[in-house]
Amino acid sequence: MIAVLKQGTSIEQRNSLCDWFKSMGLEVHISEGKYHTVIGLIGDTSKVDIELLEGLSIVESVKRISDPFKNANRKFHTNDSVVDVCGNKIGGGNFQMIAGPCSVESYEQIITIAHRVKAAGATMLRGGAFKPRTSPYDFQGLHDQGIKMLLEAKKETGLPIVTEIMNANDLPLFEEVDVIQVGARNMQNFDLLKELGHTDKVILLKRGLANNLKELLMSAEYIMAGGNENVILCERGIRTFETYTRNTLDLAAVAMLHQLTHLPVVVDPSHATGVAQLVEPMAMAAAAAGADGIMIEVHNDPAHALCDGPQSLTPDQFDRVAARVMKIREAMK
Ligand code: PEP
Ligand code: MN
Repeated sequence: MIAVLKQGTSIEQRNSLCDWFKSMGLEVHISEGKYHTVIGLIGDTSKVDIELLEGLSIVESVKRISDPFKNANRKFHTNDSVVDVCGNKIGGGNFQMIAGPCSVESYEQIITIAHRVKAAGATMLRGGAFKPRTSPYDFQGLHDQGIKMLLEAKKETGLPIVTEIMNANDLPLFEEVDVIQVGARNMQNFDLLKELGHTDKVILLKRGLANNLKELLMSAEYIMAGGNENVILCERGIRTFETYTRNTLDLAAVAMLHQLTHLPVVVDPSHATGVAQLVEPMAMAAAAAGADGIMIEVHNDPAHALCDGPQSLTPDQFDRVAARVMKIREAMK
């Protein structure tokens, strides 16, 4: 529920109204606009008598809102959230490029790629250590050894690392990880989301294969409700009837999410298309659509990658994509 206060309402009047809301067990979020103060109420607002509230001399209007995502909602937090990853800011006009292999395969592989993507302008290194594979017979990742290799690569290059968690029991292994990714297949693993909500880690939450934006925002809400506001959303394509591409990149989601939420939105054109040649145009389109960052799979030898070779760029290809994305960003200034 939202209550808009009349212009000229004093701080004392506002505070006494807020105390009344709090006495009903509601959480109160105050947003000071140029002319009006907006009070967002979180909790069971069924106890609030709307007519009584509307009748108060300081209240301009009252609206029950149906959006069940309160913490992620832009209505209560009009400014863009800026998430900080080791000094790299994302959101609110700040753009970051995340690049690296689908999976960490060896120390040499991750170090080689880390140096190359950094030289091209990437500001974070990705690499899966726990891989959610469709087949149990496929490469499942190097687990704790993979995380160790990522941390070595961070030490060498200074790039913060992004890697996926599949099970909350593995959290102790992620202590030094800078960004914990929740993959598409775990977007609605609510127990995992709740656990991550109790950490202060930056969480990159990917949209599920067949989930709508409200469901994505409700999953972000699970994390934020636990007290962790460091959430970055990721559009990575959704399942449609199209078969030429691995998924269908929903770029309208970027613009829609920016309306609905204050959280930063990143686009992953690699998983969205599944085709290396399509990564460049879609990365550029994502930047043009206002994405706060992109995440791209890069492999030193895509033909022999243990996972997602067909969508992986070579470091040379990434050089070009990164430069072109930066040109789009420049043009948008
Ligand atoms: C990944 O980023 O490595 C990954 C598995 O992506 P998604 O969860 O989007 O399929
Ligand atoms: Mn992948």
